[in-house]
Amino acid sequence: MADYPEQIERLSDMFRRLGGIGKKTAMRHAFSVLDMNEEEVRDFAQALIAAKTEVCFCKVCKGISSTEVCPICSDEGRDRSTICVVEDYRAAMAVEKVREYRGLYHVLHGVISPMKGIGPDKLTVKELLSRLDGTVKEVIIATDPTPEGETTAMYLSRLISPLGVKVSRIANGMPVGGDLEYADEITLRRAIEGRYNLE
Ligand code: ZN
Repeated sequence: MADYPEQIERLSDMFRRLGGIGKKTAMRHAFSVLDMNEEEVRDFAQALIAAKTEVCFCKVCKGISSTEVCPICSDEGRDRSTICVVEDYRAAMAVEKVREYRGLYHVLHGVISPMKGIGPDKLTVKELLSRLDGTVKEVIIATDPTPEGETTAMYLSRLISPLGVKVSRIANGMPVGGDLEYADEITLRRAIEGRYNLE
């Protein structure tokens, strides 16, 4: 039985690395690339490289950005007294769709998970604390409503409350175990509006 050319196998393997892509789909994508003209293929490759090399983490909120400080952190019109803490940048973008929220964000890059060996030191907790310099009056913890998300919220609350900063948690109403990223705008708005204080 003849194999596919080595280049096609290699490309197909690359697509499989994206996750959620099976062998057949990966091979179909590889053939789609063959169907593109050379310029399209170069654009495609260039987009991959640019996404990796030109996108960095904002030095303030740790969200992804193409500039040293992201557009949200550098927007003078935003409310600097409130920080919404999220697990990842996609969750920040979900909250951003709720237009009433005009505060800042902080991206943790995960949640505390003893099972997976993720402690606070693997997250951007230290960086969050360093932002609490007196101008911040409230930290809204918007980690997902999963056991790890709740553990992380309690952990952060215990650290931050003694600093005299109000700590709140987005309200329930989100499906338990639900992903903030996939919550609809109305659910998310209610969750933020109905936030409650953590001690
Ligand atoms: Zn930022």
